[in-house]
Amino acid sequence: MENNLLYRSLPNVNVLLEDGRFQTLIRKYGRENVKEAIHEALEQVRICISLGQTEEEIRQKISALPDRIEALVMEKCRPDMRRVINGTGTILHTNLGRAPISRKHMEQIASVVTGYSNLEYDLDAGKRGERYSHFEGLLCRLTGAQAAMAVNNNAASVLLILSALAKGGEAIVSRGELVEIGGKFRIPDVMEQSGVTLAEVGTTNKTHPEDYENAVTEETKVILKVHTSNYRIVGFTKSVEIEDLVSIGNKYSIPVVEDMGSGALVDLGKYGLFSEPMVQDAVKKGADLVCFSGDKLLGGPQAGIIVGKKKYIDILKKHPLTRAVRIDKFTAAALELVLREYISEETAAANIPVLDMLTKPLEETKKSARSLCAMLKRAKLSAEFSVCPCEAQVGGGSLPMERIPSMAVTIKPEKIRVTELEDRMRHLPVPVFGRIINQTIFLDVRTIDKNDFKLIVRQFRELDIFETAARD
Ligand SMILES: *Cc1c(COP(=O)(O)O)cnc(C)c1O
Repeated sequence: MENNLLYRSLPNVNVLLEDGRFQTLIRKYGRENVKEAIHEALEQVRICISLGQTEEEIRQKISALPDRIEALVMEKCRPDMRRVINGTGTILHTNLGRAPISRKHMEQIASVVTGYSNLEYDLDAGKRGERYSHFEGLLCRLTGAQAAMAVNNNAASVLLILSALAKGGEAIVSRGELVEIGGKFRIPDVMEQSGVTLAEVGTTNKTHPEDYENAVTEETKVILKVHTSNYRIVGFTKSVEIEDLVSIGNKYSIPVVEDMGSGALVDLGKYGLFSEPMVQDAVKKGADLVCFSGDKLLGGPQAGIIVGKKKYIDILKKHPLTRAVRIDKFTAAALELVLREYISEETAAANIPVLDMLTKPLEETKKSARSLCAMLKRAKLSAEFSVCPCEAQVGGGSLPMERIPSMAVTIKPEKIRVTELEDRMRHLPVPVFGRIINQTIFLDVRTIDKNDFKLIVRQFRELDIFETAARD
């Protein structure tokens, strides 16, 4: 048949749009998306005709059009942001969403946010309430503080605290603590942004109490201690403990603030990990305000949590900047649920994904790795799988030196290069991330939910990702 006759045998866009087969698709994904997909699918057939494919081949393509159109619509409408499987062993992976929220908590959050809620309503009093009220009591109970609030993230906590307490004045910080956290959060820059003059004291490796005391002037509004979350100064070092800063603060009536970064509420030392400074200790030792992230070691939603003396929290709550950095209802709901788990430590370790991954015994990860490895071997794929010890890490700028013994399933593809496999794994419908070590992909099972093992194997098998030509 002549090419122009083949072109003419193609169905018309508007006719296809009215076709009964596409009505469900239109209801679900909208007319515009389906129309675009039809155009695209037809264009693909036109290209095949122009390339001189046989009439037989073209007829086949035309009869496959409905399936092709449906596939195109789904592809178009698939959200760009989606879940991935993290086999990197980095628990707080900043690029992969930092702290995961548990499904159980997410269901409760969904029920709160899909309708109206008492976000700012006091049900007992029958009048307007505060969005912090749902978790302020919990934070006070868990940390021993008088009052608490939360803002968008911990960078915002520091900005708000400095703006509210020290604008136009000076804040004293040790030179050993002028940190930069990922994403260009730098203490000196935040100072400037808050309209605060930085009074640096001490040296990079050593700062003494008298360094702070000598720096106190009429202009001093805050003494700030910053936890060096993402680096360590080792060797000949000295920093000033919070209790010593508190004595100086008390002597000169200057509030003492500690930015703890991660801010652990449970002692990770009990689980064989390094002990991070704990929020309740800083409060007990008299810090006026302590701030930390909601989605680092706490394992909750992105938030900046601020706890401390009521006098100062009240000032923060009233500050105009607070309105600009306030948390939304998702965060408020999630924060309450996560904090509730901390009332008993075992519950927290079991129900908060980050803590569960951090504290899971090596023996358990070994079992998981063996089970994933066996499943992969049974799938008869063109790769060699084995179980191998590895090291997980906390990540997210927390505990930079800490390594956690863990177990991985290693993958050595037989027909394709490791970099090619890594690329294909990243392009799966649910992308799978691992680490390449010595021409081998390591999937650390500490950061993979056991319930995802089947999905991993199914995707590997159905899309033939180990074969020379993978199916897309
Ligand atoms: C991580 C961190 C921050 C920033 O916290 P975000 O919640 O990521 O905004 C600030 N200060 C310290 C010491 C940190 O470790």
